[in-house]
Amino acid sequence: MKTLDQFNITGRSALVTGGASGIGLAYAEAMAEAGAKVTIADLDSDGAEREAARLRSDGAEVQAVACDISDLAQVTAAFDAHVAAYGGLDICFANAGWDAGDGFWAPSGERNPLGRIDQYDPEKWKRSIDINLSGAYYTIREAVRCMRAGNRKGSIIATASNAGIINEPIVGIPYMPAKAGVLHLVRHAALELAEFGIRVNAIAPGPFVTNIGDGWVKKNPDARTSFEKTIPIGRMADTQEMKPLALLLASDASSFITGAHVVIDGGVQLGNFK
Ligand code: NAD
Repeated sequence: MKTLDQFNITGRSALVTGGASGIGLAYAEAMAEAGAKVTIADLDSDGAEREAARLRSDGAEVQAVACDISDLAQVTAAFDAHVAAYGGLDICFANAGWDAGDGFWAPSGERNPLGRIDQYDPEKWKRSIDINLSGAYYTIREAVRCMRAGNRKGSIIATASNAGIINEPIVGIPYMPAKAGVLHLVRHAALELAEFGIRVNAIAPGPFVTNIGDGWVKKNPDARTSFEKTIPIGRMADTQEMKPLALLLASDASSFITGAHVVIDGGVQLGNFK
């Protein structure tokens, strides 16, 4: 087989949680551009429908489903809607997430009392774990149910974060253990599922320009500029830069990769020597 043929996902189907915005939208676009049938499952039902309609107008087969990933019943219903529309499931991006609000360090470069470990809102702690960790589990769980029922090979990709490996002081404290949990969940699921032909991997992004954190990075150019000085490559990433990695992990081009995580962070994990 020729190398480029290994990236071919034409006719396969993919469900993307959090696909109405940011990194999830890039995954959905990458899958649709490569010829897969796509379900965008998102809490923001208007946004999901808007993006699905836009991709359909470009000739892709894409549907939108309203879904809160912190509610297992809604996740089950989203996957059922995907299988009903497309006859099975080949690819899943467990992507939706929430930044968990204030960290102890503000992007402007000073301590933020609301993010202090002894001040942080316990309701936000619970909500972050419900979305970022339980939501990832519910998504992987339902993807596996559909893949195994169809007796198909499959690829599951979870969006973890740099924050699951190193500290990110500007995001809320539960985000770190939740994303670290996602990375270990991925390794554990990969071990269980390897013999069924289901691969499970994680992407650990660094700073991408999206709507996370209420889109602070789009609203505060000065904070963005000072933040970008801490990134070895010197800038935040465009979500377009996520698409080739998404296609690699979704397709047979990564047929011997499972239980891995790929860091895509402009060198943030290397440290800042300036
Ligand atoms: P975003 O805010 O642009 O997009 C997130 C999407 O998820 C939105 O469409 C939102 O409606 C949806 N969503 C939120 N909660 C949901 C829920 N409970 N159920 C279903 N959908 C829900 O953010 P993004 O930056 O694209 O984030 C995508 C993923 O990438 C998240 O898991 C985030 O933690 C992770 N991440 C982002 C960055 C970054 O720099 N942007 C870095 C590391 C990790």
